[in-house]
Parts: sequence; structure tokens; C-alpha cells
Amino acid sequence: MKKTYLLITLSLLFSPPLSLVFSYTIPILKKKIAEEHTTLTSLLISEWIKGAFNASDYILRDIIDHVPASALTYPATDPIEHARISELIDKKRQTLPYSNGVGLNDDKCIMTHTPSIIGFDASEREWCYVPMQNPELDTYVSNMFMSNIGEMMVIQVRKFPDNKGLIGLGVNLNFFSQWVKKVNIGQHGVVAIIDNDFKLLARQPEITDTLGEKSGAPIIEKFMISERENQSFSYISPLDNKQRLYSIRKIDNLPFVIIVGEAHSDWLSSWYKQLAISILLTCLFWIMGWLILRHYIHIIEQKKELEKASITDQLTGLYNRHKLNKTLQKEFHRAQRMQETFEVILMDIDNFKRINDTYGHNVGDKVLEELALLMKQSIRLSDTLGRWGGEEFLIIIPIKTFKAQSTIADKLRIKIEQYDFTTVKNITASFGVAYYKEGDSIKSLIKRADDALYQVKQNGRNQVAFEDVRPSLI
Ligand code: GH3
Ligand code: MG
Ligand code: MG
Repeated sequence: MKKTYLLITLSLLFSPPLSLVFSYTIPILKKKIAEEHTTLTSLLISEWIKGAFNASDYILRDIIDHVPASALTYPATDPIEHARISELIDKKRQTLPYSNGVGLNDDKCIMTHTPSIIGFDASEREWCYVPMQNPELDTYVSNMFMSNIGEMMVIQVRKFPDNKGLIGLGVNLNFFSQWVKKVNIGQHGVVAIIDNDFKLLARQPEITDTLGEKSGAPIIEKFMISERENQSFSYISPLDNKQRLYSIRKIDNLPFVIIVGEAHSDWLSSWYKQLAISILLTCLFWIMGWLILRHYIHIIEQKKELEKASITDQLTGLYNRHKLNKTLQKEFHRAQRMQETFEVILMDIDNFKRINDTYGHNVGDKVLEELALLMKQSIRLSDTLGRWGGEEFLIIIPIKTFKAQSTIADKLRIKIEQYDFTTVKNITASFGVAYYKEGDSIKSLIKRADDALYQVKQNGRNQVAFEDVRPSLI
């Protein structure tokens, strides 16, 4: 019973905080999963973009195969041939959904064929001078720039053999946003693509007027100049102040960086929910634990009170006859086992009836209470004092060997005789003393004490009398 109570209380007190500690492993695992997720998402987008640029490069190769380098002249020498080539390249371009133009340039970067501005000198444009000045480059993809017609785009370039000119394919920013829209990175996540100039090419969710703006962060700038292919880190976005777990990745040979961020709030939200529930449960369980503990203490107190009441005489507060009998049994066993003895003193108030008759029952009661207190103060802790019944009291005194007299009984008799009782002032008491001897029963022992007491009453009261038969156990 006691153990069950304690077990229940302890488990109520400790299980919620323990579950809280254990559940902390969940966000750690979730963080790992989020890290994997962002890394794989950035890889996926980079593969898509690489694949798309490879596919469009086939179109550029195809055009180069169908256009002789000698046709790259401005002004055109053969207008019919010029028109045929212009039509051909535009037709091929139309097979690419996110291309907004195609053009051919001669080896000086002068535009020879384009739906835009023929004769335009593009030698100042990165997409033209970088590949033309680097004979080892066959292909090139530029950073984002603003075109002649005011459109943000990047240009994918393939050169004609022997640096004789190039074909450039304009790729608008919708090309980039289609990929970032394809992935799911949670309610507060972000996917973005920037170029090598840190200009934003696409972002999901979109933020108005940020496309084309520089949106670098020191950590990204450091990553750009490093040798690393990809990197993961936790960071607070300067654009929306949300903390996220980021994966950033370069796309080989292309001037773009993919940024995928999963918001802490997304992958921690279930943990926060669990935290709140755990705290609530902790409080609830603690209250329950406290109530059970209080109930348990109350039961123990009640039990103690009942136990005390069952052995206590209500009027005097001394032990009752039931407890005296228990103590006698205990002393019997002890005396038998240890070959020792014990003394019993039976005490009876002299002429008590007269007190009741003269002063009333209440005064009689008061005498009994005062007498009980007086006797209690006069005995040792090892002695047992109780009310045997009516105005009779019994004292059990463990002793090792028989004595020819009872010092305690004598002492008590004198104390009672000299005590100044309320109302009645003086009373006296008679004492019968007996000692346990081998072969005794409680009955026989008490009878000898009672007989001795009777003798006192016969002899005029207010005396101590010893039993007649001396114990053999001496
Ligand atoms: P003796 O000296 O021979 O013992 O005379 P006694 O009057 O004391 O003895 P007796 O047996 O004639 O009377 C005992 C009285 O004690 C009778 C009873 O009313 C009274 N008594 C017993 N218990 C109580 C009690 O709890 N309260 C009160 N007030 N009186 C009690
Ligand atoms: Mg009596
Ligand atoms: Mg009496």
C-alpha cells in the first residue's frame, strides 16, 4: 500500500519531465532530416538547371551546324540568305519555352542576326567578350543583365568553330522561377537562385521588386570563392528575418548558386507543441501527485490517530486496559525468554465513591485526570502506566530481579497523599504489588496483586502491600 502510493506519486512527478528530456531527441533527428532535405532539394534543382542548359546547348549546336560562319557579316552580303538564317534560328529558338531571343554575332561581337538590333556592338557585354577573349571556351553562360529591350535575362552562348563568332540564347527569369516553384520546403521555407554577382534570379516565396537585386550575405560570398560544392548552415535571412537551416550549392560551370532554406519554426513546430503539452502534463501530474501525497499523509495521520485511540483511555489519556493486557503479554514473553521478572502495581483510589457522592461525578473525573498526570510524571519511560478500570490503575515495571519492596509504589503513594487536588484537596490510594514468577498467567499475576490490594483495604487503606507468595525466580 505504502509502496504503491510512493510509486504512483514518484512516477507522476518524474514521468512528464523525463518524457520531455527524451522528446528532445526528436528535434535533433528533425534537424538532421531537414538538413538532408535541403541538401537534396538544392541538388535536385541544380540537376534540373544543368539538364535544361545541356538541352538548349543541343539546339545551339544544331543551329551552328546549319549556319556557315561566313554568313556572320554586318551588313549582310546576301539579304535572302540573311532572312533564311534569321528565320531558321528563330524557329529553332521557339522550341525552348523560356528563351526570349536568339542572336548571332561575328568575331568582333557585332550582331549579325537577331530579332532585336542588327549591327549592335556587344563587345562590352560580358556574354560576348568573355567567351571571345578565351579561345578555350566553347560555351558560356552569363550572369544576369538588363537587355536592350529592358528585360532581365542571362545569355547562353556557343561559339562557332575557330572563334569565328557566336550564337547567344536569351534565357528569361521565368526559366529560373519554374524550378523553385516545383519544390516544397515547408510553410516558412525559401528557395532562391542567385548568380555570381549575387543578383537574385528567382525566389519562392516571391518578394516584390527583389528580382535582379543583389542579395548576398557574407556567408554566401565566402562560399562562392571557396572550393566547396555545397554547404549547410543555420542563418537568419536579412530579407524576412526568419531563421532557417540552409543548403547552398554551386552548379558546375554555370554562374548560379541554389539556396534552399527550411525554417526552424517549420521543423520545430511539432516539438514546440510537444513541449507545451509536456509542460501542461507536468503541471497536471504534479498537482495530482501532490494531491495523492496529501491524501496519503492524511491516511497515515488518521491511521496513527486510530491506533492511538484504540490504546488510550479517553478520560485520563493514559493507556487503556486493552493496551495494558498487550504489554503484560509482551512482558510475559520477555521475562520467560530472558529469565527475568517484572513488577505489577495495582492501585485503587481510597473511598472514591465518597468523592463522587460529595462533589459530584465531574469532580470525580477531574480527580482521575489530575491523578493520571501526577502518576505519569512519576514513572520512568520504560514503565507502562494505564487505567485498569474505574478508579483503578495498573503499572507494569520491567525489572531483572525480584526486589523485596516496590520503591515506585511507595513513592507514588506519598506523592498522592501530599498532592493538593482541585476541590477535594486530599485523597489517598492503596497499592497491591506482585511479581511475575514461572508458571504465572496474567490472571494469576493480577489476582495476587489484587489480593494484596484487598489486604491493604482491609488494613485501613493508604498503604502498599506485597503479594504473599514470593517468586521462585530470584
Ligand atoms: P475503596 O476504598 O474500598 O476502593 O472504596 P471506593 O469507594 O473507592 O470503591 P467502590 O468500588 O465502592 O467505588 C468505586 C467508585 O468509583 C464507584 C464509581 O462510581 C466510581 N467511578 C468509577 N469510574 C469512574 C469514573 O470514570 N468517574 C467517576 N467520577 N467515578 C468513577
Ligand atoms: Mg475500586
Ligand atoms: Mg476505590
